[in-house]
Amino acid sequence: KELPADSNSDNSPRQVYHACFSYVLPKIPSNPYLIHTATDVAKQIGLTKDDIGQEDFLAIFSGSKTYPSTQPFAMCYAGHQFGNWAGQLGDGRAINLMEVTHEGKNFTLQLKGAGPTPYSRTADGLAVLRSSIREYLCAEAMHHLGVPTTRSLSLVLTGDEVLRDIMYNGNPAYEKGAIVCRVAPSFIRFGNFEIFAARQDHTNLKLLADFTIQHYFASIKETGKDKYIQFFEAVSKSTLEMILNWQRVGFVHGVMNTDNMSIHGITIDYGPYGWLEDYNPTWTPNTTDNQHKRYRFENQPQIGLWNLYQLANALYPLIEETQPLEAILDAYTKQYDSNYLQMMLSKLGLQIKDKEDRQLIQELIDLLQEIETDMTIFFRNLSSVLKNDTPETALTKIEFAFYNANDYNESIALKWHNWFTKYIDRLQIEVVSDKEKSVAMNQVNPKYVLRNYMAQLCIDAAEKGDYIILNELYTLLQNPYQEQPEYEKWFAKRPDWARVKIGCSM
Ligand code: AMP
Ligand code: MG
Ligand code: MG
Repeated sequence: KELPADSNSDNSPRQVYHACFSYVLPKIPSNPYLIHTATDVAKQIGLTKDDIGQEDFLAIFSGSKTYPSTQPFAMCYAGHQFGNWAGQLGDGRAINLMEVTHEGKNFTLQLKGAGPTPYSRTADGLAVLRSSIREYLCAEAMHHLGVPTTRSLSLVLTGDEVLRDIMYNGNPAYEKGAIVCRVAPSFIRFGNFEIFAARQDHTNLKLLADFTIQHYFASIKETGKDKYIQFFEAVSKSTLEMILNWQRVGFVHGVMNTDNMSIHGITIDYGPYGWLEDYNPTWTPNTTDNQHKRYRFENQPQIGLWNLYQLANALYPLIEETQPLEAILDAYTKQYDSNYLQMMLSKLGLQIKDKEDRQLIQELIDLLQEIETDMTIFFRNLSSVLKNDTPETALTKIEFAFYNANDYNESIALKWHNWFTKYIDRLQIEVVSDKEKSVAMNQVNPKYVLRNYMAQLCIDAAEKGDYIILNELYTLLQNPYQEQPEYEKWFAKRPDWARVKIGCSM
């Protein structure tokens, strides 16, 4: 612990040693305004609709007021960024407000963008409206897609202006400042362990590990080294599960640095993330990663493993044996491989196992890349293919997924014909009815995801003070697997203007 914050709390950027966190106070916003609250998240932490309407709600979640008897703090962590050791990073623009226990569950409430901390380095600790909307909406969309994630409680405008880019004409570009309150069991990352290991501060490494296990991994009953091995295994399994879900829905995180990896295996830190639209496994939404594309879609499972190696290294001083850690890391690869097969079969509506399945999947993945084909639309519409379809009738059901009709030539048509011939053949050995198959497929292949262009339309309107699209997308994305005829317009390919991928991290 560092000393408690007071009105003169020291936010000056510095190296913080022998501490897991530093007490800080949020910056007082000049004119806070509540844009949106996720009422189901509020309910989970024990707040009613009435509570949300109170002045105090806005005051606390905009950082104007500290909740009585709480001491907000920013955490100290390190990380590997793009494969390189980056040293101390820490919560540069995140402040933990408090922990809440409701109905037996623990929640930590954290403001993102509420001002500088000792970890802000050269940056301002603030967040702009566009990045806050992207985080707010996407976390909720992911949750409702069944992907483990931090949740969003509230989105507020601070009333302050934030300087981000310098425009091409040399004028400074001010944007609206905003704060998201996000919610998770805790915000402990791989990097929280890495920093102590790197500094050879084994006393605090052990304190943090013991605290984490006691509070968040209560089912671990082992003692001594075994306790830390079990902890590592639990993190490995939940990380695998999270990434498998990303691959299922076509989510690309974009910044899988170890400081952005939660020990709870939940998606955290929505920066330049994106969704595959045309199925391109080499795509990354992160323009700063354009050369090596380290965090491209197809690389995410591997990167998860790489990051787990870093966590293993960090925990090693508590275990002092490589074999059990290596066994867990090896199991990750094998387990991922078999879970991936299972997941892809479910996307294809195949419940029985067949020795040709891997090949059928690989051929599809190759084919999806031949011409631009929308991932979400393809898999969603595939559920309507019937056992007695011909390859031709099946094709008409998915052709809406093709971006450009002109790309569709005879050679592509023949390849699709061949693939559908195999797929329809394969459907014949399934015992479930077409209807049952379609219902099952529609539970794993979402109809609606938060495409970049949707977020962008929402942001453009919100910049002008119009939150209609924000409300609409929030509602739509609460039921991403359900047909919602009133929102059919959002079941659409990326429009041409959105081809230059929009992403933002700041
Ligand atoms: P990210 O790539 O978003 O995970 O951020 C990496 C590090 O930069 C973390 O330590 C963040 O807290 C910090 N950071 C990012 N943006 C800001 C900002 N506007 N002000 C202060 N720190 C920031
Ligand atoms: Mg981060
Ligand atoms: Mg970030």
